[in-house]
Amino acid sequence: MTEPRCERCGTPDAVQLGERTLCETCYFEMNSCCGHEFEPVPAMEGPVLKVVKGDITTLQVDAIVNAANKTLLGGGGVDGAIHRAAGPKLLAKCATLAGCKTGKAKITPGYRLPAAFVIHTVGPVWHGGQQGEPDLLASCYRNCLNLALENNAIRTVAFPSISTGVYRYPKDQAAELAIRTVNETLTPFPGRLEVSFCCFSDEDADRYRRLLACEV
Ligand code: ADP
Repeated sequence: MTEPRCERCGTPDAVQLGERTLCETCYFEMNSCCGHEFEPVPAMEGPVLKVVKGDITTLQVDAIVNAANKTLLGGGGVDGAIHRAAGPKLLAKCATLAGCKTGKAKITPGYRLPAAFVIHTVGPVWHGGQQGEPDLLASCYRNCLNLALENNAIRTVAFPSISTGVYRYPKDQAAELAIRTVNETLTPFPGRLEVSFCCFSDEDADRYRRLLACEV
């Protein structure tokens, strides 16, 4: 059997492409210069962001984020719920961490939680928005994601709406900033992490769904 040769340049290893027999180089050159159909470049996969309504302590994810206070010694709201569900070993571990500054994050095991890890972060208290609150809240999301990215056992992470409870950060602004910061931080790592925004109420979940639909 004769070897198929490119009808344009004569190179062996050509293939039949419709009516033509072409090598890869000629196929590329002909299609790229005349604007004919060409293999589409697959779209870059963006970060995977989801909305979940419910109690973050029940989620089957690799890591949940705790909206803690600077002592890391437990408190109310989501912090209290996480400590109750994880059991006393979490408090004992947190007591060795020497607290956490606003905007920073620290990681511990999840103990009795379904999640293997808890990433504790301290959101800013809302004082009207002129005291660095947006930068600090963005730092919380970034630092939590950086800890998750450093740990190959973490592929799925769930965040509560940090600072929007007792710390009074306006919910719309907090959700918009959360989505934008997570998107920006994960864009260089396509497919590496799946992030859920865990909302405690229908109203909060609707807010995130609305914002995600219009891609903040
Ligand atoms: P902060 O002090 O950072 O404001 P809070 O715990 O008071 O933290 O509230 C943060 C958010 O967590 C609020 O939107 C609140 O509704 C929500 N929340 C409280 N408990 C839970 C829970 N078990 N699971 C998920 N979200 C929760």
